[in-house]
Amino acid sequence: MAIYSIWVVEFASIRHFPESFMIAGTAGGQTRRLPYTYAVVQGEGRTVLVDVGFAWRDYAKALVDTMGLDDWQPPKVALGAVGVDPETITDVLITHAHFDHMGGMEFFPRATFYLQERELTKWVWSLSVDARLKKLHFTVNPADILHAVKLAGEERLRLVCGDRDEFLPGIDLRLAEDSHTWGSMYVVIRNDGRADSEDVWVLAGDLVHTFDNLGLAGPTPGIYTSGVAGIGGQYALLNAIDRMVNAAAGDPGRVIPAHEERLGERFPSRVTAHGLRVTEIALATGTKSRVK
Ligand SMILES: [Zn+2]
Repeated sequence: MAIYSIWVVEFASIRHFPESFMIAGTAGGQTRRLPYTYAVVQGEGRTVLVDVGFAWRDYAKALVDTMGLDDWQPPKVALGAVGVDPETITDVLITHAHFDHMGGMEFFPRATFYLQERELTKWVWSLSVDARLKKLHFTVNPADILHAVKLAGEERLRLVCGDRDEFLPGIDLRLAEDSHTWGSMYVVIRNDGRADSEDVWVLAGDLVHTFDNLGLAGPTPGIYTSGVAGIGGQYALLNAIDRMVNAAAGDPGRVIPAHEERLGERFPSRVTAHGLRVTEIALATGTKSRVK
């Protein structure tokens, strides 16, 4: 008995992204395709979105166009591939404030957004630091931070403080403080609804970028490797990976990275007419597949 369907939906990609950005210690100039994704969690009469992607203009466009991004689709099109209308999304869980995860809040006019308190307040602080420390907020769009504060004032964004059990039925929120970002959050879905669940999925955001970080691929199977560009550094990231794997009863294959192009090797998936992949991580009992 599965409560939720979970789909990871690509909405854009960079064809040749440096591996060295995703896997610490990688040299040699190798590249791979980097998809940008959000995840739909649907069941119990709810459609929840994890992350909102970005609007392809201004800060985001200036950044990604230099890396060769040209296949961006708006949520109406990208989510349409799994039969979801952005207007019907009521709850959005934002893993962190980087432009590619929090830059698309405007596309979800009826949603309430949830973000860790530390994530928003520390980015506000970070924007005020001296210019020579500016690298701190690389890939954070100041306009997104302002937008989040505005939505908080309109009671459409709520800040979560730390870990929350059963935030939604069967769904726990977990804080990974000072890791990839100041207040990165991962989402634990106990898909049988039980406290000692045997059917757990973890949506990791960017605490892992790829299967390599989880020891599921790459030259060192079973050994975690961190990504780079984290606020908190290697130890914080490895620790977060271990916590996520433990939450998934020790199975790294149940921890889902946000930027992994090979999800289709482990889960049913299909590629849409726009060249973007939709992956079915889980299917709620009685629900028809959206990838077959
Ligand atoms: Zn990202």
